[in-house]
Amino acid sequence: MAGLKLNHVCKVYDGKVKAVSDVCINIKDKEFVVLVGPSGCGKSTTLRMIAGLEDITSGDIFIGEKRVNLLESKDRNIAMVFQNYALFPNMSVADNISFGLRMQGVDKEVIKNKVESIAKMLGLSDYLKAKPANLSGGQRQRVALGRAIVREPDVFLLDEPLSNLDAKLRAKMRAELSALHRKLGTTFIYVTHDQVEAMTMGDRIVVMKDGVVMQSGAPRQLFNHPANKFTAGFIGTPQMNFFDCIVSRDNDGAIVDAGFVKFTLSKQQLAKLKVGVNESVKAILGIRPEHIVVGEAQEGFARVSTELVNVEDLGPKSLVRLLSRDGEKEIELTGYGSSDVYYNDGEIFAYVNTELINLFDYKTEDTLLPEIPEYVEIDATLNNGILKVFNGSLKLPSALNSLKDGDIKLRLPVEAIVPGNDFSGVVEMRENVEDGKLCFVNAQGSLFFAIGDYEDKCTFSLDLSKVTFVTEEEVVDSIPNQSLVDFKFESVKEYEEGKKIKKHYAIFGDTRVETFYDFNTKMYRLGKKIFENQFKLGINLNAIRIARENEVYPTLTATLEGNCDFEGKKFMKLKIADNIFFVEGEGNAQTQVVALDFDNMSVYDNEGNLLFD
Ligand code: ADP
Repeated sequence: MAGLKLNHVCKVYDGKVKAVSDVCINIKDKEFVVLVGPSGCGKSTTLRMIAGLEDITSGDIFIGEKRVNLLESKDRNIAMVFQNYALFPNMSVADNISFGLRMQGVDKEVIKNKVESIAKMLGLSDYLKAKPANLSGGQRQRVALGRAIVREPDVFLLDEPLSNLDAKLRAKMRAELSALHRKLGTTFIYVTHDQVEAMTMGDRIVVMKDGVVMQSGAPRQLFNHPANKFTAGFIGTPQMNFFDCIVSRDNDGAIVDAGFVKFTLSKQQLAKLKVGVNESVKAILGIRPEHIVVGEAQEGFARVSTELVNVEDLGPKSLVRLLSRDGEKEIELTGYGSSDVYYNDGEIFAYVNTELINLFDYKTEDTLLPEIPEYVEIDATLNNGILKVFNGSLKLPSALNSLKDGDIKLRLPVEAIVPGNDFSGVVEMRENVEDGKLCFVNAQGSLFFAIGDYEDKCTFSLDLSKVTFVTEEEVVDSIPNQSLVDFKFESVKEYEEGKKIKKHYAIFGDTRVETFYDFNTKMYRLGKKIFENQFKLGINLNAIRIARENEVYPTLTATLEGNCDFEGKKFMKLKIADNIFFVEGEGNAQTQVVALDFDNMSVYDNEGNLLFD
């Protein structure tokens, strides 16, 4: 059993077709992960790279703790199940299942027992002597599964295994596969273009488009909080309705105006909205059919005047196609009605649950109502090193001495709110998110977010190392997540054990650090002038640490500028060739050796434009 990690994995076919682009996925042990997306989005290529059937152009794949980039497929302890079963037609079911074990020369009695118990698990006990030609499609797929199970792999890879089955059998096999996953307790990675399969089977879904991961999360999370319009449209059937709209925000609230419908956002939505005060922006309004109902008036919903175009009676309820008007413009909507909605040609009101709408940026198509906002800004005042905020005060650590007294805004990401007793607040609402419960906390009229098990009346503290301080003159990240450090890239021919080899270095002032294949490949992709130009290395806090004994990562020696103590959490401020960066930990020696994980570094040009990350 094992988890899996894909780190910045890319695949370019024949030097030109970019099939998979910078895919990063962390798969937990025993997780059922579904890769889903339209045909050609790179999901099979990703699976085949995990299986070792396809070379990786750049990036790393780990199975468990082991980097498997160069490991042959047969040594990865994975089993793959394909769409076309790939059974031996002239062998019986039992022989098909046991083929691999027989090749390994496993004891006959052991094989017999294993085959029998697997056949029982898959409902094939009565067919062990049958040939594949005499089985149904579903049974053949079960034999293919049996052949994978018998190998007791760490990871099952399944590539569209149900697409050859008819709709009814597919639904049955979906349930069987989920049950099998629970029974085996092994990691499953499943590829499909069918979002229904993804929604019904996955613990987690990874949505891909054009070789890029658009969003990854639990099915509910993707349905309720799509990060972009693509995921919103791909997940859920019938598809989400999309309309052009204007979102205008002032001091009191925000209005969404799509012409045929106009409503104000709730206080909770306002807290998440990525539109600034006094801004008015063009956006895309997304409403799921499930959140448009015709028939009885719904309190708190926005009312829309419509005509019925079509009614599909689905039994317990009806799917309705509606037409609304915005002046001359006709607007089509899909919604639901109770089963007693019948077609008529008069006006009928549809009610939109505005609490559950989505908004997307008109240009980037990224959400304007994120599930977890990047940060919330809160007003505070600073006087003599004492920060007054919410209903309490806090002494700032010496690391923040340079901040000037007066009014100040605090940018609080969810990680900045931690359990403690410095302040008190009231939890107004909770939402389930992947890492726990997202609490909407109100402290003295300021609304912000925290993740954790906070009581209705709660107390909390601030992790100041996660807070950003904004004054009229400056924005001070107390400990920046990323520091930029100037470097030049160099290639040198060296002799090692009598052989001439080419090595690459990142040069920081008068210090150099050797860089390796993946980083070098990314640098080479930047074009010809990589050895002439100056670059900036974006060092993230998670890509740097104090070097250990027998350090495996490349190391760099820097000067210690000072220690910053954030109430127990300690950071060192380091300097190399006039650039400042941070690392977790504490030290006294004037020089400090740090280890750099170049695979997790970003590179910027000299003007600060991101080149790759
Ligand atoms: P999916 O499984 O999502 O349908 P694939 O991973 O099969 O997509 O393909 C992703 C992209 O890579 C497509 O544009 C496809 O044409 C291309 N591709 C796949 N296999 C090869 C190959 N062997 N040679 C060249 N291009 C390929």
